[in-house]
Amino acid sequence: MILNTDVLIIGAGVTGLNFALNLRDDLDVMVLAKDTLNECNSYLAQGGISVLRNEEDYETYVKDTLVAGNFKNRRQAVEILVKESRNAIDKLEQLEVPFNRDKDGQLIYTREGAHSVNRIVHCDDNTGEQLHKVLAKKVREKSNVKIVENCFFADLLTVKNKCIGALAIHGEEELNIIAKAVVVATGGIGGLFKNSTNFHSISGDGLAIAIKNNIKVENLDYIQFHPTAFYEDIKDKRRLLISEAVRGEGGRLVNKAGERFVNELLPRDKVTEAILEEEFKSKSKHVYLDVSFLDKDFVKKRFPNIYRSCLDRGVDITKEPIPVTPAQHYFMGGIKVDMYCRTSMENLYAAGEVSSTGLHGANRLASNSLLESLVFSNRAVNYINNNLLPYTVIYKDLVKRVEGDREYYSNDLSLVLQEEIKKVRGDIINELVAL
Ligand SMILES: Cc1cc2nc3c(=O)[nH]c(=O)nc-3n(C[C@H](O)[C@H](O)[C@H](O)COP(=O)(O)OP(=O)(O)OC[C@H]3O[C@@H](n4cnc5c(N)ncnc54)[C@H](O)[C@@H]3O)c2cc1C
Repeated sequence: MILNTDVLIIGAGVTGLNFALNLRDDLDVMVLAKDTLNECNSYLAQGGISVLRNEEDYETYVKDTLVAGNFKNRRQAVEILVKESRNAIDKLEQLEVPFNRDKDGQLIYTREGAHSVNRIVHCDDNTGEQLHKVLAKKVREKSNVKIVENCFFADLLTVKNKCIGALAIHGEEELNIIAKAVVVATGGIGGLFKNSTNFHSISGDGLAIAIKNNIKVENLDYIQFHPTAFYEDIKDKRRLLISEAVRGEGGRLVNKAGERFVNELLPRDKVTEAILEEEFKSKSKHVYLDVSFLDKDFVKKRFPNIYRSCLDRGVDITKEPIPVTPAQHYFMGGIKVDMYCRTSMENLYAAGEVSSTGLHGANRLASNSLLESLVFSNRAVNYINNNLLPYTVIYKDLVKRVEGDREYYSNDLSLVLQEEIKKVRGDIINELVAL
């Protein structure tokens, strides 16, 4: 079947939805989600979204991002992020995203590792879910946007180095979706790993398709392992993240003897290294994150979801320490884009975790990810809104046919990506899911 649209957005996380919400009303927009709308990493975000506190914070915020990124960041992207962060949060406030506020109605700012000051806004400890719900509701109100769930993006449709749409599988249907602009917002690569905080279905499909189509990608070795995922001796299950905000609010990392062994507020890569070293020394599969000495009511109120999720796993965090160990969490590399999310292929944009603006360098500063999705999708939307002309492209015949079912493509794309990752990160081969 051939479908036509003006803008095709592949991915319905915060990035894809923010595009759909802000594109011009006279454009036909189609949004694809691989599974249901809520099955995206955006939905899982706990800690919050960073924002520039005030002008005095400018240099500090830039520096915190560079230090966390081991100075491998693209400075221009860092400066854009910091400068445009307040505007992005203002827009969310206008949409009535329910950020936590004090009794005077002012935003409450929390802190996470490697931030010099409190500059993270949040909705309890499930910021992503609450933000995604608001965006999804607003997008559904737009008559020019069609959301298609359970629709698998299998390849790009291209003519020379120009993108003209995408090949997708929807149930039994084979779709050629022709579009004037295509946005890849397919998220990270966690599904390739045995232990990840990500949904299994978020497995780098967009990145693999970019590689197959010779689109420029970069820094495939920049893979972040979060220091504190709940330790469980189970296979094939997403790891429960214990947000960095738990350490930001005073949580302590201790070994089995109850001794602290690291400054909890160092950047993620440093804390992860210290935990792995401690586990090796003490011949243990985990260490502990302790908040049992904090005020119990504060802990329950500040982290209601983490409290409940740990209780479901048999740990009352107000009384006992949480067993934690590192797990794959985030991908800093990706499809190389400029500051308007343009890729090396004409008419093709990439944004969010699948893209590489170079902002995060080799290690992402906590809570800079949702912000990157918002700031850079806002920029790309402005670019598209100002530049997309109202012409119609008509293709009468299928440009590309599917070669197999969804599983066939899924395995093929995972294999392509795993092979590329093995070339640059031989040290983590054992962490990958064997295909
Ligand atoms: C547990 C957890 C906690 C986090 N906490 C925070 C936090 O507090 N602050 C912060 O800034 N960041 C946080 N992050 C990171 C952040 O949530 C993600 O980086 C960000 O939300 C990515 O957004 P995205 O829109 O790029 O991708 P996602 O939200 O993952 O969305 C990807 C979309 O692409 C679709 N897709 C994928 N493949 C295909 C395909 N083949 N066909 C069709 N559709 C496809 C999916 O269905 C989905 O709709 C957290 C991440 C996790 C996992």
